[in-house]
Amino acid sequence: MLLKVQHITKTYLSENSTPVLLNLDMELDSGQTMAILGPSGSGKSTLLNIIGTLDKPDSGALFFNDKNILDLSDKDLASFRNREIGFVFQSHHLLPQCTVMENVMIPTLAVKDEAFKKQCKTRAMELIHEVGLWDHKDKFPGTLSGGECQRVAVVRALINKPRILLADEPTGSLDRENAHAITALLLKLNGEFNTSLIVVTHSEEIGKQMANAFKLLDGQLKPWK
Ligand code: ADP
Repeated sequence: MLLKVQHITKTYLSENSTPVLLNLDMELDSGQTMAILGPSGSGKSTLLNIIGTLDKPDSGALFFNDKNILDLSDKDLASFRNREIGFVFQSHHLLPQCTVMENVMIPTLAVKDEAFKKQCKTRAMELIHEVGLWDHKDKFPGTLSGGECQRVAVVRALINKPRILLADEPTGSLDRENAHAITALLLKLNGEFNTSLIVVTHSEEIGKQMANAFKLLDGQLKPWK
């Protein structure tokens, strides 16, 4: 099993300290796709941030290939995150002063292995071509549409060949047509590279397109439909 979330509990310190996640369990295998639906405030982003090691649970374990990565030091966790996990958010978070190609290469800036860096550059060129942005590779994000920027963000998330791609409302700021195109792109790249995909979404349409779909309710994942 690529990813195993075991008995995760998370409570934010506030007046109402009800756990957002309560003994939550989930599993995801290599190449699998999963949608996480649920009402606003149900804890979807919290769960995704914990899986992406951007946040830590109060208790529980997070196994990646049978190793509990919560045991890693912060430094090792950061390098694990950089190597194994790609992120796409609702807004693309591209750097306005960098070109499309430069933005895509940002995750590789810390890579010391020159051969790997070269592979990433080749991969960047292939992926930019594949998502239909070759003619835009030297342009700045401000000159691109929202859908195009999100396609760049997807390429950037995949540049390091992560094992898991985490997408938090990736189509939330797009119109229907662009939303459809981004979902299709995520699924295509998932099929091509066997990258596991977890999508947090409000969209039932996206939920139906993932092989597995759950609803986050009362701190736990329940099968959706
Ligand atoms: P969703 O993604 O399903 O909308 P979130 O995971 O963003 O839900 O939030 C779940 C709950 O936790 C909400 O009630 C939210 O207000 C609260 N919450 C999220 N992040 C924090 C934080 N950093 N500090 C305090 N409360 C938070």
